[in-house]
Amino acid sequence: MTVMEVFEKSRGLKAMEDIYAALESRTGVAAPTSCPVEFASAFCKLAVAQSCGKCTPCRIGLAQLGGLIDDVLDGYGIVEDLDLIAELAESIYDSADCAIGFEAAAVVLRCVKGFKDDFLFHVEHHNCGADGFAAVPCVSACPAGVDIPGYMALTAAGRYTDAVALVRKDNPFAVACGLICEHPCELQCRRGMMDDPINIRGIKRFAADHCDVEVLPDKAEATGKRVAIIGGGPSGLTAAYFLALMGHSPVVYDQLAHLGGMLRYGIPAYRLPRETLQAEIDFLLSAGVEVKYGVKIGTDVTIKELSEQYDAVYLSIGAHKENRLGLDNETAEGVYSAINILRNIDGDEVPDFTGKDVVIVGGGNVAMDVSRTALRMGAKSVHIVYRRRMLDMTAQVAEIEAALQEGCRLHELVAPVGIELDAGKVCGLTVQPQMVGAMAAGGRPAPVPLDEEPYTIACDAIVLAIGQVVDYQCFEDAGFKVDHGRFVTFKSGGVENADGVFVGGDCASGPATAILAIGAGKAMARNIDSYLGYEHEISLKLDIPTALPKGKAYCARANMVEVRPKTLAGDYELVERGLSPEEALQEASRCLRCDHFGLGALRGGRSCSW
Ligand SMILES: Cc1cc2nc3c(=O)[nH]c(=O)nc-3n(C[C@H](O)[C@H](O)[C@H](O)COP(=O)(O)OP(=O)(O)OC[C@H]3O[C@@H](n4cnc5c(N)ncnc54)[C@H](O)[C@@H]3O)c2cc1C
Ligand code: SF4
Ligand code: SF4
Repeated sequence: MTVMEVFEKSRGLKAMEDIYAALESRTGVAAPTSCPVEFASAFCKLAVAQSCGKCTPCRIGLAQLGGLIDDVLDGYGIVEDLDLIAELAESIYDSADCAIGFEAAAVVLRCVKGFKDDFLFHVEHHNCGADGFAAVPCVSACPAGVDIPGYMALTAAGRYTDAVALVRKDNPFAVACGLICEHPCELQCRRGMMDDPINIRGIKRFAADHCDVEVLPDKAEATGKRVAIIGGGPSGLTAAYFLALMGHSPVVYDQLAHLGGMLRYGIPAYRLPRETLQAEIDFLLSAGVEVKYGVKIGTDVTIKELSEQYDAVYLSIGAHKENRLGLDNETAEGVYSAINILRNIDGDEVPDFTGKDVVIVGGGNVAMDVSRTALRMGAKSVHIVYRRRMLDMTAQVAEIEAALQEGCRLHELVAPVGIELDAGKVCGLTVQPQMVGAMAAGGRPAPVPLDEEPYTIACDAIVLAIGQVVDYQCFEDAGFKVDHGRFVTFKSGGVENADGVFVGGDCASGPATAILAIGAGKAMARNIDSYLGYEHEISLKLDIPTALPKGKAYCARANMVEVRPKTLAGDYELVERGLSPEEALQEASRCLRCDHFGLGALRGGRSCSW
């Protein structure tokens, strides 16, 4: 009798799975500044180890390719080797039987073409030219360069006010970022190689929630230089705060009645309470920032006039104009823009969604925010319509989960094709089912219409959350260069034909994140200061607790949880609960102190000024 065994994981297979999981977490948190030559070599070796050995290009070719790359790494390579590497990789790509071979070749090809200068540097100098080694990985991933291990240590020591002051040295929006920062720093946290990345944002929130009355840092002597800041969002206010500390006189112009930009007029109060944001803005203004509310540059005053009146100008107007679908009936009663709803939520111009069925079109963070807001506006049901798959949505996973948990319904893979009206008012959104197609530029599959009948989702209102664009027209008319809807700038933020004008934030990058806008504001304060002929330093001298060796005990990450109110309608209270003191202490103590250990030990690990 022949016996067929029931499949059971062998010890070897389990061990391999563990190794792959460790490899995955390692590559997941690897610094993007790693040497591409070294990476290509390691990747080749990994692929050879995975090769089933059936086809020669993979088994033999990849080993040879790895050897050639190693020659370059070891300093024996010559310039001609680079062409040879590319040729061999192309030939493996064309002839390997399966993805183990041809994908490895494709990665090497991307490395040798995309990082040709790094390969050349190895050949010509016999060492690595990759700059920007991430001495402290989390710090190099934070666009404002916040001293993360420093404030972890201060929080663990119970010195919360010092922790917040340290954050503010680089990022004045310590409180707001503790609540809403998208925390790119955590993606690079080395602790992720062991168990989970540190909850860096959570610790910032905890320190901000528990700090005493804050004192402004010392200001430099007054310079008499006046700087106009157009736009009082996070980017403009960051620049204004630092310029004031540097002794200059910044004047912020904003078209609206309150400051904060999208932090106030986009992000809903249940994620960032208005009074919390206002208190932080008031603190920043107290550094010596003048504000002119309700002035729209381009309409009330021209940028040329401002340039003549001020010693320098920072343009940070964000991206406030909504995109349209391009369908008929888009201006009919019952079709709204997400940005307008979120902007006017505190005012009288907000639609009444009580008891209504609402369809939201879009898959980004704005779509999630407006969906959850619609529930708080009393909507009976909220349907989110997205033309790709849920996993292709650009919204943060936590935001998608929160919207679904609160009761929003997601319709994946359906594209809007018609807005239906009844007596001139919206009564439905017709959608065409889609399937995923080929990968498009940007790494997401393009949706392709399925051969199925469109269907209509009955509703009383449609909200479009399909992206924002920069309102640049009057600036383009004044001679500013615009490309793909964003201002074109030099690396310094300066622009062609407008000496003394600097541009940054969402209007230069396209709609992005608060911390990117804050990082741009910080950089522009530095560059404007230089332009004005100064080299002021922003510094903070604090005694940071000594880094002590940690044990190697594994410990999971403490997350913040959302508290759901019984009824959402009318409830705009903060939903995220901060860490408890015990959780914060445990979490801050998990930090591996890369400012002291690893490369941090050699490179000083910390800069007390910038
Ligand atoms: C709904 C929504 C949710 C978001 N959620 C998050 C999040 O959770 N985390 C995160 O990190 N980021 C989030 N973002 C993105 C973040 O808010 C922005 O990236 C950031 O605010 C951009 O900052 P900024 O200063 O460049 O521009 P903005 O914040 O847009 O500020 C620009 C300012 O310029 C003013 N202005 C514009 N034109 C003129 C003019 N002609 N004259 C005078 N003033 C003018 C505006 O009134 C505004 O105050 C969200 C954005 C939105 C829309
Ligand atoms: S501001 Fe954001 S990116 Fe920077 S350290 Fe804080 S959470 Fe991380
Ligand atoms: S362990 Fe600490 S210092 Fe190291 S990357 Fe993570 S947060 Fe930064």
